[in-house]
Amino acid sequence: MSYLDYDLTISDEQRELQQAAHTFAAEVLRPVGIQLDRMTADEVVAPASPLHEVFGQACALGYNRMLAPPELGGLGLDPVTRHLLLEELSWGNVGVAAVIFLSSNHADVALALGNAEAIDEFTMPFYAAGDSSICGCWAITEPDHGSDTLTAMRPELRTPARGQLVARRDGDDWILNGQKSAWVSNAPIATHAMVNVQFEGEADFARSGVFLLPLDLPGVSRGRPLDKHGIRSLPQGELFFEDVRLPHRWLIVGPDEYAAHLEAHLTAFNAGVSCVASGLARAAYECALAYTKERVQGGKPIFEHQSVRARLFHMFSLVQASRSLSRGAYVHNMTRLGNGEPAPLEHSIAAKVFCTNAALEVATLAVQLHGGNGMTKEYPVEMFLRDATAFTIADGENAMLSQIGASLL
Ligand SMILES: Cc1cc2nc3c(=O)[nH]c(=O)nc-3n(C[C@H](O)[C@H](O)[C@H](O)COP(=O)(O)OP(=O)(O)OC[C@H]3O[C@@H](n4cnc5c(N)ncnc54)[C@H](O)[C@@H]3O)c2cc1C
Repeated sequence: MSYLDYDLTISDEQRELQQAAHTFAAEVLRPVGIQLDRMTADEVVAPASPLHEVFGQACALGYNRMLAPPELGGLGLDPVTRHLLLEELSWGNVGVAAVIFLSSNHADVALALGNAEAIDEFTMPFYAAGDSSICGCWAITEPDHGSDTLTAMRPELRTPARGQLVARRDGDDWILNGQKSAWVSNAPIATHAMVNVQFEGEADFARSGVFLLPLDLPGVSRGRPLDKHGIRSLPQGELFFEDVRLPHRWLIVGPDEYAAHLEAHLTAFNAGVSCVASGLARAAYECALAYTKERVQGGKPIFEHQSVRARLFHMFSLVQASRSLSRGAYVHNMTRLGNGEPAPLEHSIAAKVFCTNAALEVATLAVQLHGGNGMTKEYPVEMFLRDATAFTIADGENAMLSQIGASLL
């Protein structure tokens, strides 16, 4: 919290909210995140898991309801404040922070689209609940189509492909059959989903559609929670659909609007991930700084060795650069999207790729500055390194995203 913030317009009220989020992150999210990291994927989602309690606490504080206006039950926070809180909660634990932020996805998308029926059915109940009883997720990737699903808006990067989740029209309804990948964040605990589907007879992801739906419908089932290397506190898993019948009104984006919708959604998500990564980088840097002031080698704290300080300064520079780029891209793009205006995806991608790569570099250096201790569970830096690796792949693998960004220049 002692970092210089270059934005001189931040108000006292915003700083108070930031400080409150920092306290919650330090006292609750960090210790519970470490606990969850050491549990199996099944244990993380089991009824006795501390994940449910900490998620409930976060919701009671309103951290799952930052976007919508107070009259709907939200905090109605502006993009700058949202960015400040996102960074603080991610500083605590990126996995639990992701659970919290993703939980409102279906409600916020309905609101952003201004779809009155979807707002009544999905946004209002979510914001009125005011607790963790409603939890969303976004299911787009499929076992055989990861990057392919994200390039739909760039004709030069697209290849024809048959999707693994297909919607067939049946009178006034749609019937869904197929599955989504094991990477769907929150899927094991979600009550609702935003699901990207291909239509029967199509072989082009650019002409897909988006449904909002509750996950307790007949024919919906889930795979086992994914056991993975990083972000272990974030439950992920497959969603399966067998003859799942949906009313037409739940189709919120049709094939003609799909590419523009996907571009806007990635613009918001990539900017958000850049912020999460900035919080993670800051956490790794702070742990390394503290450790180097305690660890004595060469007759003095290692912090006093020039080569150690040079590495710390490089980490500090990366953290500050990340925070600035992320804040700029997030505030600009979320403001434009909030006004219903197009926002430049390439800026969100630049922020996501830069900040997640920076977090990986900072976490790697943090482990090295801990020497052998950096490889042990006694210090959180080895977890930060695993978490940072995962974020270079989440929401688009960085090389692939860079290709999309380059095509937009
Ligand atoms: C932590 C985490 C959270 C996630 N959350 C979600 C979620 O909530 N919902 C969801 O649906 N998915 C989610 N995902 C999935 C994620 O979006 C995909 O993992 C990602 O898009 C990459 O897809 P893939 O894993 O299938 O890799 P692939 O697409 O198979 O890519 C493998 C490699 O090939 C390269 N490659 C692929 N295509 C091309 C190309 N055309 N040209 C050049 N190189 C190429 C890539 O750059 C990459 O290096 C998550 C993933 C992670 C790790």
